[in-house]
Amino acid sequence: MAQIIDGKKIAAEIRAGLSAQVAEFSARSGVVPCLAAVLVGDDPASAVYVRNKEKACADVGMQSQLFRLPANTTEAELLALIERLNADPVVHGILVQLPVPKQIDPDRVLQAVSPAKDVDAFHPENVGLLVQGRPRFLPCTPHGVLKLLERSGVATAGAHVVVVGRSNIVGKPLAIMLGQKGCDATVTLCHSRTRDLPAITRQADILVAAIGQPGFITAEMVKPGATVIDVGTNRTDAGLVGDADFASVSAVAGRMTPVPGGVGPMTITMLLANTLLAAGQLAAKK
Ligand code: NDP
Repeated sequence: MAQIIDGKKIAAEIRAGLSAQVAEFSARSGVVPCLAAVLVGDDPASAVYVRNKEKACADVGMQSQLFRLPANTTEAELLALIERLNADPVVHGILVQLPVPKQIDPDRVLQAVSPAKDVDAFHPENVGLLVQGRPRFLPCTPHGVLKLLERSGVATAGAHVVVVGRSNIVGKPLAIMLGQKGCDATVTLCHSRTRDLPAITRQADILVAAIGQPGFITAEMVKPGATVIDVGTNRTDAGLVGDADFASVSAVAGRMTPVPGGVGPMTITMLLANTLLAAGQLAAKK
């Protein structure tokens, strides 16, 4: 039976450290790190995510500002708000909760956020810096995955990591980060056109599922003793489930993250870390 990687516990430990760092930074600089969250429309899941982020900020002693815009907001109106937040010295991090309504081009919006305040690390300049191995910010979910591995004592150096899913938010940046010097993994990035996926996933020392399909990874796809990181967060009638079939996979894997309580709490934690980092970088520029 797999040892469970407890993301909730690891996230709480990291947040305790962040609280202390925020207090120290604020006492030294007189600045309280502040995250501005922009929510357009009334998607209930997005509203929950944003509320959780606001609460997490308060828990570590950071400020947050929430901007709720109606579903019929135009792209120009959203861009004007982002411009205002870019120029506001009180705001250190800006996040636009995705998805945005269809009249708004998400790429244009993400490019409008000042790279210095881009705590999601989605701006092309920050993606470029990441690829070159000199990141300004690390994207939150991939960073959370790396922290889970590190804190669980799972070595990435020399390991074969198979990442299933190549989105710009999770799979692609995670594959890049794992292959950088320091992580030193040998990475295989899989997607919907991958031929004989089970033959590849069975080679993984560390298997990361970021697909968005409940229970997609089954025991037959996992090498006995492998570490399985399940990024999937799928709302089903049975509640929130991951991309791995927990019951069967946990019987084969050596270590495994649960859903919920695995990667999810780490994503918000790394967002807080980036907001503190942004506040420090902006203060140093003054
Ligand atoms: P996307 O839908 O953007 O990407 C899904 C990826 O999975 C694509 O690359 C797709 O391939 C691949 N895929 C789909 N079907 C298959 C298949 N049959 N075989 C192999 N690969 C397949 O999803 P995201 O990356 O945004 O999210 C993935 C999951 O992670 C979701 O459940 C999401 O909710 C969750 N998530 C969780 C977070 C957290 O904090 N825990 C944060 C972000 C996401 P192709 O490119 O060929 O289409």
